[in-house]
Amino acid sequence: MLIVLDHQASEDEIDGVFAVARAHGLEVHRSDGTEHSILGLVGDCHSLSPQRFAGLPGVREVLRLSTPYRLACRAFHPEPSLVAVGDVTVGGPEVVLIAGPCAVESEEQIEAAATAVAAAGGRILRGGVFKPRTSPHEFRGLGEPGLRMLRGAADRHGLAVCTEVLGVEQIAAVSAYADLLQVGARNMQNFPLLDALGHASRPVLLKRGLSATIAEWLAAADYVLAAGNPHVILCERGIRTFETATRNTLDLSAVPVVKGLSHLPVVVDPSHAAGHRKLVPSLARAAVAVGADGLLVEIHPDPDHALSDGPQSLTAEEFAATANRCRMIAAALGRPLGGCHV
Ligand code: PEP
Ligand code: MN
Repeated sequence: MLIVLDHQASEDEIDGVFAVARAHGLEVHRSDGTEHSILGLVGDCHSLSPQRFAGLPGVREVLRLSTPYRLACRAFHPEPSLVAVGDVTVGGPEVVLIAGPCAVESEEQIEAAATAVAAAGGRILRGGVFKPRTSPHEFRGLGEPGLRMLRGAADRHGLAVCTEVLGVEQIAAVSAYADLLQVGARNMQNFPLLDALGHASRPVLLKRGLSATIAEWLAAADYVLAAGNPHVILCERGIRTFETATRNTLDLSAVPVVKGLSHLPVVVDPSHAAGHRKLVPSLARAAVAVGADGLLVEIHPDPDHALSDGPQSLTAEEFAATANRCRMIAAALGRPLGGCHV
C-alpha cells in the first residue's frame, strides 16, 4: 500500500500516519518528491483496509498496489533515482561505462584492463574475485587478494570498483574494497543475500535472473530497498530462451519497460547476453539507443587466454571503438558518455 500525502501535510500529521502503520506491524518508507511525499508500507497489508488511512489528516490518497514490489515502483518515487557509485552518478544524464575482465587474474591483467577502461572513458572497473561458475572445476576467482589488486588498479586510474558478492559472509570484505556490490544473475532470488545487502553501506547492482520476469526482478530489488538500502541499479544481462545462437537473449525491451514501472536506473550487459565478442559492439550501441543508463562490458587484455568468459570479452582496441560509437549515439540523445575520444 502507498499513501500519498497532502502537499501541505505537517510533520505531526505525517508522524500520525507512521504511528497507525506501525501499530499494524508495518514498516514505513518515505519518499519526498518535488510535488508531495509518499509513504510505502512494507509488510503484510492484505487484511488492512485503505480506509484505515484515507481519513487521517495529511493523507491525500491511498493506493493499493497489485504488484509484488512497492518501493521499486514509480508510484512510490515518481522521479528517477540517482545512485552514487564512488564519485560517479548512475541514473542521471551520463551514460556510465562499467568495464573490466570477467575475473581478476593477476596484477598485470587488471592493470592492463584498468588502463583500457580509463582510456576509453569508462568510469567503473569491474572484475570478479568470487566467481559463480556453472562447473565447480572452473576458475572460481582469486578471493580477497583479488580485491586488493582490483582496488589498486582502479585507484591508479581514477575508477570506481564493481565486483560480485556471492554470499552474505563476503559482504563486509567486499564492501571494504568495492564501491558497487554486484548480485549475479544466479543469485537474483537469494533472499538472505538480498536482505543482508539491504544493510550494506554500498550500492547494489542487481542482475536480472536467467529466467526472471521483470516483476520478479523488481520484487527482488524490493528486498534490498525494504531492508533499508535505497541504492539499487538494475542490470539486464539477457534471459534464457529457446534461442541458441546467442548465449542468452538480450531483452532490450526491458529497458523502457522497467523505466516505465520503476524509478531505479537500468544498465545493460551485452557481454553475458551475447556470449560472442563480435556481437557485443552492436548490442552495446542498441542498449544506449534504447535508453540504458550505462553499460557493463567484459574486456580482457588477452581474451584468448582469459580464465573465464574470454569468448565474449572485447580487447582494449575493440572496447575503445565501441565506446566511441556509443558516445555518438548517446550524444544524439543529449546524453554525455565519459571520455572525449569522438
Ligand atoms: C559476471 O558479471 O561475470 C557474471 C557472472 O554475470 P551473470 O551473473 O550475469 O552471469
Ligand atoms: Mn563473466
